[in-house]
Amino acid sequence: MTNPPMLLSCPKCQSTNRLQPITVSGGLETVLPLQARLTPPKEPGAWDLFRQPEAFPLRASVCADCGYVELYVQQPEALRARWEKGYR
Ligand SMILES: [Zn+2]
Repeated sequence: MTNPPMLLSCPKCQSTNRLQPITVSGGLETVLPLQARLTPPKEPGAWDLFRQPEAFPLRASVCADCGYVELYVQQPEALRARWEKGYR
């Protein structure tokens, strides 16, 4: 499932005024969306320098009434596959 269904009602106030999907970022200093990042497991004898984290962009669902924000990884299968290979 690439894009799981987002909540239809707010878990905090039960409003059905949901705004989604919304991209969230760190502000003016970055145009990149917020990301979940996983770093490969350390190989024996390998340098940490070469352990490049992989980034998984997040998307948000926002309650238009109370402002509660829910985040989803855009590619959960890819993140899970890395996790099962020892990425953390
Ligand atoms: Zn709400």
